[in-house]
Amino acid sequence: MEADSRIRSTAARQSRHPAAGPALTADHANAPSLAALGEEASGCKRCDLYRDATRLVFGEGPRDARVVLVGEQPGDREDIAGRPFVGPAGRVLDECLAEAGVDRNICYVTNAVKHFKFTQRGKRRLHSRPNAGEVRACAWWLGAELDVLRPTLVVALGATAAYALLGNGIKVTAARGQVFVPPSGPPVLVTIHPSYLLRVRGHADVAAARDAFVEDLRHIAEHAGNP
Ligand code: SF4
Repeated sequence: MEADSRIRSTAARQSRHPAAGPALTADHANAPSLAALGEEASGCKRCDLYRDATRLVFGEGPRDARVVLVGEQPGDREDIAGRPFVGPAGRVLDECLAEAGVDRNICYVTNAVKHFKFTQRGKRRLHSRPNAGEVRACAWWLGAELDVLRPTLVVALGATAAYALLGNGIKVTAARGQVFVPPSGPPVLVTIHPSYLLRVRGHADVAAARDAFVEDLRHIAEHAGNP
């Protein structure tokens, strides 16, 4: 057991993946810069999610980022702030990146879907998972972000991002901690979405889930390298 974890901590399993997801295969927007893309995206009506969300939440990070972290969609806080990963899940992500020794400055963070999808329950807006059609529609923007950035590694945080990048057939529980090389586009490291850590109950289970996430994130440094 100890030997296994030593091997896992030194190198992520890397394998060829037979397919790429819509963000790497479908047509996408074409703009000279991230700022131009963000401006163009702000008027997007490619699916219905723009109707109820407060605003579009585009990706954010340095233009020369070598690593792109892709989540599912903005949450309630992100929808209000207009920035990705600034809510509770973003705080957990930042803490775990720091624990994994990953320099946040080499990372660009974005989502597979740029508008918040939710169900209204009284005053609360409850997260609702985007469907495959919405992910495909929004791949127009994610594909464009990746085209401008040309990262050396993309990290799929959760099942929606894994679908956007690698298509069907990836089960996050089995694939996490592994790097997949699709026929087109950069290698993709698969792991959980940090919001999962907010739903786990019990001290021991929380600690174990967090440790496993940090271990997955350590592979970022192996594949992309810190400056
Ligand atoms: S979720 Fe994406 S595709 Fe749908 S309207 Fe928003 S930006 Fe456009």
